[in-house]
Amino acid sequence: MRVLIICLCWLGLLGCSEPVLAKSSASIAVLQYHHIGDDTPRVTSVTADELAQHIEWLQEHDFDIVSITDALQLLQQPSPATAKLAVLTIDDGWKNVYQNGLPVFKKYQVPFTVFVNPRLMREAPNLYMNWQQLRELQQYGATIANHTNSHDHLTWRRTDESESQWQQRIRADILDAQQEIDEALGAQPKLLAYPYGEYDPAVEAIVEEAGFVAFAQHSGAWNRFSNSAAIPRFPASAQYADLRTLATKINSLALPVTHITPASMVLKHDQSTPSFSVTLDHTDDFNPAQMNCFAGSSTLRPSWQGNTFTVELSQPLPIGRSRVNCTVASKSQPQRFYWYSQPFARADKNGRWPD
Ligand SMILES: [Zn+2]
Repeated sequence: MRVLIICLCWLGLLGCSEPVLAKSSASIAVLQYHHIGDDTPRVTSVTADELAQHIEWLQEHDFDIVSITDALQLLQQPSPATAKLAVLTIDDGWKNVYQNGLPVFKKYQVPFTVFVNPRLMREAPNLYMNWQQLRELQQYGATIANHTNSHDHLTWRRTDESESQWQQRIRADILDAQQEIDEALGAQPKLLAYPYGEYDPAVEAIVEEAGFVAFAQHSGAWNRFSNSAAIPRFPASAQYADLRTLATKINSLALPVTHITPASMVLKHDQSTPSFSVTLDHTDDFNPAQMNCFAGSSTLRPSWQGNTFTVELSQPLPIGRSRVNCTVASKSQPQRFYWYSQPFARADKNGRWPD
């Protein structure tokens, strides 16, 4: 209902007092979960109580929790930057989502999306939800979406594989999973979550050509400027489940990003101190001089040239996935921050990194 009110406010059909900013766009916080339980690896888990606390916090703070398809529609129309929107997503389709999560979602009557790996469901039926359970989730109002068949690192090319063989393998990994989901549950929206949140321009091209909207796991809010082949999500499990810090992220705003260099998050082993540049559509709602970026324990000041900021890392990045987060306060909503996250995956000498 709040979504409808927001739209009517924008169209001037209701006498709303909410300020509406030129060039503004709603920001959506997408939260990412895995296990829901207290007997699973803590690093990828929230308890059912923690999940309930997150939903209660969102509802108490007037966030609309919407489905991904509703979010996509919202972002196609003008909406005020003051909108408070959140999406709940769960990767992997563990059985504990059915056992421990579904009762919580039902209690609070909120939508959520589960990204599943059909081949892994077949290979380890004791670990993953089965189709009947997913059908029950679907009947409740959950969206069941694609996490590939294999849960492989999509950007990794095999040593004996040509680029076109790699493309064929990745395309099949995504499309075969989608076919199995559609056959079991009826045609589903083409939504993908990259395993480990990893992608590169060639992966994005496959995804875009196949008509998918894809989610990664670098942090940051989602707005109409976001790359629809790499939508950020805030991890919300384990140490990230703490609402004292999670609240700041949920409240964050997305920058109007139009271009990012380098295009790939993947770094060769010797690219230990990369730099990156981000071009924005405008900087109207914050003071660029106040932006700070955080890489490991170091704080970095970006350099600005027009609407483009560049960050040069001084400390070497570790092998594996890492993120550089940049934040700056909003002028119009002083209690909210813009949040941009640059993901990296630095390879070891063999071109690989840990899960
Ligand atoms: Zn996963």
